[in-house]
Amino acid sequence: MSSEITKMVIGIDDTDSREGMCTTYLCALLRDELSSFTKLISDPILVRLNPTIPYKTRGNASVALFIECGDRERVIGHVKEKIASMACLDNENTNPGVVFVDEEKFNAVRDKLRSFFKRAVKDVITIDEAKELVSELDLEFQAFKNGRGLIGALSACGAMLDPEWDHTYEYLAYRKKDVWGTKRSVDESSLFNADRQTYPDTWDTVDLVNNIVVCVPHSGDPVLYGIRGKDVSSVEKAASFVVSEPVERFCIYRTNQGTDMHLISVSSISEIEEMRSYILEGEVCSEPVTIRGGHTIFILKDTAGDIIDCAAFEPTKNFRELIRKLISGDKVLVYGSVTENTINIEKIKITDLSPAYEIRNPQCPSCGKRMKSAGSGQGYRCKKCGTNSEIPERTEIKRDIVPGFYEVPPCARRHLAKLLLRFENEDLPVFPGR
Ligand SMILES: [Zn+2]
Repeated sequence: MSSEITKMVIGIDDTDSREGMCTTYLCALLRDELSSFTKLISDPILVRLNPTIPYKTRGNASVALFIECGDRERVIGHVKEKIASMACLDNENTNPGVVFVDEEKFNAVRDKLRSFFKRAVKDVITIDEAKELVSELDLEFQAFKNGRGLIGALSACGAMLDPEWDHTYEYLAYRKKDVWGTKRSVDESSLFNADRQTYPDTWDTVDLVNNIVVCVPHSGDPVLYGIRGKDVSSVEKAASFVVSEPVERFCIYRTNQGTDMHLISVSSISEIEEMRSYILEGEVCSEPVTIRGGHTIFILKDTAGDIIDCAAFEPTKNFRELIRKLISGDKVLVYGSVTENTINIEKIKITDLSPAYEIRNPQCPSCGKRMKSAGSGQGYRCKKCGTNSEIPERTEIKRDIVPGFYEVPPCARRHLAKLLLRFENEDLPVFPGR
């Protein structure tokens, strides 16, 4: 058995903590270490799961490798040993999991792993469900501590075995170990140049509207920068323009980032559950208000009359200015995650604008003088000739927004949120600042 050439999918999750490591780094390291005795069959996969899950580590990411090997036991031993030695096991929120799927099982497990993957992106899955699935499918695995990482490990295997999902790519460059935790040295102007040279085939390297770099993280993990784009050659090209401290290694992942895979279309608010993400159509039924902390919120009503708060939080910066221009009666399609009974807006399609009016005291129909209010609810009265009127003067005023699709800026974008530039239809894009 162990000398036969065989294929294997390896899924890994939850080896990192907020302070250090990164599951993708472990994946890149394993890919390189295994390369002396295995062959890589396809691009490594990086999947983002349900973004509302509170106990996620940093980005709720898990990874998978697809390899061909002659010594299965050696591969499994190496991977398990590496996770045990490198994962942040001391951190209470780090609960690694690894799953190995052998070639002879691919067909038998593909459908179940694929639907598990889709559910893990949209839904809330328990550790017990993951444990049940791994034993039902009789897969080789290892769960560390509470085993939460099995959820992502199984999902990543499902993603690897399923060729049919929308995807993008990310080029992740990693730092040399001796500088982990120190300030990153990446030349900012080279990142703006990389963006100029490759946008829109790459995106979210920088945020031009807010004039900041987006692709360089600030935490203590090994990632130096990440370039997102539509294919391998585009992210490679962008990376070639980046001037930085030495890169220890890099890895290009196929990923569900930028695909809206997390969104569920619903036609009514009554279908909405906490900790899921939705596309919901409705009518604005309150003027947006900006509350303490700079968050802008309006109330959306569906056709049944149910209501829900929709928020553009402070980090969405200039996007809030757009939201503040909405008025009651505007018809919109809102995209975003629901937590605490509030939709966190990732993008919005304004389909119909309600007319806006300026209300003034009317002119006197007899003498033409501007009338005065006769008191609250009393209508209007002409001071000059005594004429009364109930009807104010309504003048329609021009709205300063147009129907269309609008999204949060790159600096506030969720990993999974599909960018407007990736939509193919027409009535879309408004790209402020580009
Ligand atoms: Zn008058």
